[in-house]
Amino acid sequence: MRFRFFQIEVTRKCNLDCLICPSRLFPEKEDMSFETFLKISEYFDKTDMIHLQGWGESFLHPEIIEMIRIAKEHAKTGLTTNGSLLKKFCEEIVKLQLDYIAVSISGPETQGKIRKGSSFENLIKSIEFLNEMKKRFKSHLPFINLTFLMTTMNLDEIPLAFKLASKLNTGLILTNLDYTFDETTYNLRVFDSKVSEKVEKIIGKIEKDARNLGIPFKRPSLKSVERAVCDAFPESAIVFSVEGDVFPCVYLNLPFRRISRYFKGKKIFVERPEFGNVTEKTLEEIWNSKVYSQFRERFERRIEATRSLKYILGFGDRDFLKFSPPECCRGCYKLYGI
Ligand code: SF4
Ligand code: SF4
Repeated sequence: MRFRFFQIEVTRKCNLDCLICPSRLFPEKEDMSFETFLKISEYFDKTDMIHLQGWGESFLHPEIIEMIRIAKEHAKTGLTTNGSLLKKFCEEIVKLQLDYIAVSISGPETQGKIRKGSSFENLIKSIEFLNEMKKRFKSHLPFINLTFLMTTMNLDEIPLAFKLASKLNTGLILTNLDYTFDETTYNLRVFDSKVSEKVEKIIGKIEKDARNLGIPFKRPSLKSVERAVCDAFPESAIVFSVEGDVFPCVYLNLPFRRISRYFKGKKIFVERPEFGNVTEKTLEEIWNSKVYSQFRERFERRIEATRSLKYILGFGDRDFLKFSPPECCRGCYKLYGI
């Protein structure tokens, strides 16, 4: 089996306390042991990409640089960061030729309110410093993306994020608050909401400007519509938790037996699936286990239905709806294209 990507949660520790992050509810926050990382690294030749981040700030891991070095020997490697510690690591990540880095930002007005403990000014200075390092070492890597999570609190700052991307020579990825785990996060979303139209107009203009200026830009849908499969690629990607547990996505990698979701105004719970731990079984055993195979078959049936001629010709019959998604995906907005 060849995997599209591995996502490795190198730590669950974080130095911020973001309003939108479920990690505020986690009972414990640990680093991944280096032994567990090395165990996972035995499979690095089976993946095309390695993303070193989960529900935590990866630069807090004392061995993050060594982890990047090992990952880079096998596959394209990148990570997402809150940027608070970025400056300290700029030189090393350029020298190691980290392929990409995604820096989470909000806006000057809301950075400290949404991403509590973060300073907007420091963040910008760190990205500028990373650009300086890239210049000094004549490197085009790491490619930098700003990731802006849209909420009702910061939607007026979206155009500013685009200006920043242009000024800092980065890409811009707008994201939704796709994991709404309680009423507060649910009410902060901009999709399926009374602000969606306003946000759509803001994004429409940015889309046009990004095309004209050649700025890499990505946006999510603002209207939930059920899809055959989510874009977490559960049929070909793997997430490893801090403990070495294997999951199809980060939305199932949560340290709770029952996962809470706030979906279309209602609170629901799903049981967290157990697929296996890579320190106890081989990845092949876990991937080919009955429980994991059955999980994927649910999606495969739905994907197969989208290959019918009727579907391809655009009759929109949405045949895949006849097949239920896995139970643990119930109420996950990712399955609705969010
Ligand atoms: S920086 Fe990331 S991991 Fe840390 S609290 Fe914020 S969203 Fe969560
Ligand atoms: S639908 Fe949601 S929970 Fe299920 S695999 Fe996709 S992202 Fe994960």
